[in-house]
Amino acid sequence: MGKLNDRIAVVTGGATGIGKATASLFAEEGASVLVADIKKEEMTDLLVSIQSAGGQAEAYEVDVSDEDSVKYFADQVKDTYGKVDVLFNNAGIDQEGGKVHEYPIELFDSIQKTDLRGTFLMSKFLIPLMLGNEKGAIVNNASMSGSFADLDRSGYNAAKGGIINFTKATAIDYGRQGIRANSVSPGTIETPLINELTGTKKEEQGKAFRESNKWLAPMGRLGAPEEIAKAVLFLASDDSSYITGQDLIVDGGLTAYTWPG
Ligand code: NAD
Repeated sequence: MGKLNDRIAVVTGGATGIGKATASLFAEEGASVLVADIKKEEMTDLLVSIQSAGGQAEAYEVDVSDEDSVKYFADQVKDTYGKVDVLFNNAGIDQEGGKVHEYPIELFDSIQKTDLRGTFLMSKFLIPLMLGNEKGAIVNNASMSGSFADLDRSGYNAAKGGIINFTKATAIDYGRQGIRANSVSPGTIETPLINELTGTKKEEQGKAFRESNKWLAPMGRLGAPEEIAKAVLFLASDDSSYITGQDLIVDGGLTAYTWPG
């Protein structure tokens, strides 16, 4: 028996990185996975790999920051499946923008739009498909950057801090309806996003982080997307049946430092 047998699980930003690893693990655990992303080609590759391993998955082209796109997706899910059991709000972007007085307004807005507003929109339009089921689980991908600040990344810090408290708001709104909401806060995880942030080429993924002590965890290595996926599975499954409104930091001990590096 898988931990998510017979469950419909939505994973946003599932085409790459942490979302991809989580979609694959959810499918291994018996869920029908609905991957929602803007990257069509990468989603197709993921579907092939999940289906060839005997899992069930579908891909939907969705822009989580866009109300019409999210509404259309929710309608499709309602018509096809009639319910949602698990929602992993994972889609996100990140970019350095300088000190607060230098930080481009457009960059600030676009990060809030994808990371924070996207989490809100997906929750707003998919929670109605969870209500009336016996239970539901929402996991929002925040970040250690939601509780601790980074240099030159105030827009991301604001969005991720918002997600952590938005998660608590969701948890208290729906506790009586059996819907749990928690956030996961990864440390530095080797994914395309980290690659873009450091400006390194794909083949040098994570190299900049590995070579400097900055943001290198006490465990002496970056995290793998699969290690976040396992924490998300815990929060999405009945293994965490009495946990709601919490933030789970998965960072190899990074935030245990008084001063990193
Ligand atoms: P990633 O770039 O590999 O994945 C992000 C995914 O989100 C991509 O597939 C992208 O296409 C999708 N996406 C972006 N904008 C979207 C939109 N508007 N609508 C739908 N999909 C969209 O990055 P990742 O590292 O796997 O990041 C996943 C999440 O984890 C993000 O929310 C990120 O902030 C968070 N996170 C990552 C790290 C890390 O070190 N990698 C650390 C902390 C938190």
